[in-house]
Amino acid sequence: MPEQIYSAAIIDLNGVVYEHGETRADGTTEKIIRPGAREFLDFLVDSPVPHLFATNTTSQMKEDVAIELAESGLEITPNNIFSCVEAGLQYLQQEDLRRVYLISSSDKLRARFRTYEHEGFRIELVSSYDSTHPDDPNNKIDAVVVGFDREFHSRTRNDATDFVMGGARIVALNMNENRPKLDGTHEWNVGACVAGLVCAAKIRPEDVYNAGKPNREFYVQAQSMLGYSLSRVAEVLVIGDDPEADLRGARDRSMATAFFPSRKDAEWPSDLGFSPDVTVRESLEELIPYFIVPQGKNRQE
Ligand SMILES: [Mg+2]
Repeated sequence: MPEQIYSAAIIDLNGVVYEHGETRADGTTEKIIRPGAREFLDFLVDSPVPHLFATNTTSQMKEDVAIELAESGLEITPNNIFSCVEAGLQYLQQEDLRRVYLISSSDKLRARFRTYEHEGFRIELVSSYDSTHPDDPNNKIDAVVVGFDREFHSRTRNDATDFVMGGARIVALNMNENRPKLDGTHEWNVGACVAGLVCAAKIRPEDVYNAGKPNREFYVQAQSMLGYSLSRVAEVLVIGDDPEADLRGARDRSMATAFFPSRKDAEWPSDLGFSPDVTVRESLEELIPYFIVPQGKNRQE
């Protein structure tokens, strides 16, 4: 019998629920559902156990993620997906950062920012820095938000640098360093672009806000989306395949952690300073006995 019983779950998507498989002729990538994922997700929905899916993707909106998963036979409600994009938008609202320069090559991300509206808070996207009139008040913005930008042109880099030097905050949607390409080479991801801006604008790396995992704040926001108060965080089990990227921030928020590595023999890194509360290696279904089933259901603990 499990020693500890949990009442809510935060589940990493990429690596826990699915893995990337072969690339199809149309350039999309097949998603391979991991062992027991279907059964575990059915259990969460049927029980029901409050849950969220966590992802650091900035080029796909939650609706697109849900559509892709549905094609692989997994029904996930977009409202149950908590991404670094949503976390970033919540942060902008919380800090009242309205005038934003957005770095991204995704039209969908741009549209998400442009149409975001919550409790009267809206974002105004600024298109460029006016270098001919440096003192123009329009050059004063609140934040440079950095998402994945395949091009990261000199114009973009320079505009962003001038905005930051003029006082804008840098909000990184995640800090992932690079992105592997299909041919085995790599391209700059958000973290690399942020590092360049930090250097060019001569600010301190710690002044950058990282909206995505593994920042502890990502889990604070997820916790409030689950409707859990601070006194109940230990009831939330966060499930990840990557100790650093998925679980360290959760642990920093005093949530419980479950390690489900993609390679069965993967070892937990000894230098991380904590151990996971649960480790499962064969199937996600092994986690089911760790959850409380609400009264009226027939499973006994
Ligand atoms: Mg993962």
